[in-house]
Amino acid sequence: MIISIASGKGGTGKTTIAVNLAFTIPNCQLLDCDVEEPNDHIFIKPDIIDKIPVFIPVPEVDLSKCDFCGKCAQVCAYNAIAALKKKILVFPELCHGCGACSYLCPKEAIKEVNKEIGSVEIGEKDGLQFVHGRLNISEAMSPPVIKAVKRYINPTRTVIIDAPPGTSCPVIEAVKESDFCILVTEPTPFGLYDLMLAVEVLRKINIPFGVVINRSDIGNDKTDIYCKEENIPVLMKIPFKKEIAKIYSKGEIIIEALPEYKKDFNGLFDKIKRMRKQG
Ligand code: SF4
Ligand code: SF4
Repeated sequence: MIISIASGKGGTGKTTIAVNLAFTIPNCQLLDCDVEEPNDHIFIKPDIIDKIPVFIPVPEVDLSKCDFCGKCAQVCAYNAIAALKKKILVFPELCHGCGACSYLCPKEAIKEVNKEIGSVEIGEKDGLQFVHGRLNISEAMSPPVIKAVKRYINPTRTVIIDAPPGTSCPVIEAVKESDFCILVTEPTPFGLYDLMLAVEVLRKINIPFGVVINRSDIGNDKTDIYCKEENIPVLMKIPFKKEIAKIYSKGEIIIEALPEYKKDFNGLFDKIKRMRKQG
C-alpha cells in the first residue's frame, strides 16, 4: 500500500506525520519527495548508503546542420529554446526535457545532452528503508527528481510518500498512484482555504483521502464543519503542545520521545487500512 502525505500549504506538520507514521508501521519504506526542501532525514537520521545523480536531457544544437527554420522554438511549450536569424538560444533552466524539439527538428540538428538537476539518496534506519531526492539549488524542475525517487518504491513494503506542499505539478507527481492520501492541515482560515484546494485536486485525480488536523486546538472549528459537510473523514487531531514543538525543534521523533502518542499513530494507520478495505 502506498500512503502519501500532502498539505495545501507548507508548515502544517506534514513531516511530523510522515516520519512518525513511518516509524509506526512495520516493514515500511519512507520516500521524501519534497525534493526542494527534504527534511525527513533530519528526524530519521538514516545511514545513507547510495547517492545517484538525476539528469534531464536538454537540447544541444549543431549550427552547421541548422537552417534556422524555427520549428524547435514553435514546438517548445516552455519557451526554453529560441530561434533567431543566425542563432539558436537554449535556456536549460526552462527546459522540461520533453524531447519534442529534437524529435521534430527537420534537419536533425538537435541532440540531447544530459544535465544534472539533482540526486537521489538511499538509506536505512532501524529497518526502515529511506529514500529522498534533492533538487540542485537554482534548478526549477522538481518532477523528474520526484519521479527518480519513486523508481525506488519497494512493493513488498508499506510505502509512505512525503509530498511537496501546495497543489501544483510536483504534488501530483508525488501523490499519483497512491492508494490513500493524508491531507495535513491546521484549523486556520489559510489552512482551510489550502485544504479545500488540495481536496479538489485529490478528487480530480481520484485518490481516496482523509484529513489530519494539526494544532487542532488553535484557530476555529470551520475545518471540522467543512470536513463534515464534505463527508471527509478526520482521521486524527494533534493538539498544540509545547512539548511536541520542543521535540520537533530538536529533530526528534514524537513517538520515541513521547511513547503515549504511539497509539494515536497506530490508530491512524488502522483507520486507513479499514477505509481501504471498505473501498
Ligand atoms: S528545428 Fe532544427 S533546423 Fe529548425 S531552427 Fe531548430 S534546430 Fe534549426
Ligand atoms: S526538450 Fe522540450 S522543453 Fe526542452 S527545449 Fe526541447 S521542446 Fe523545449
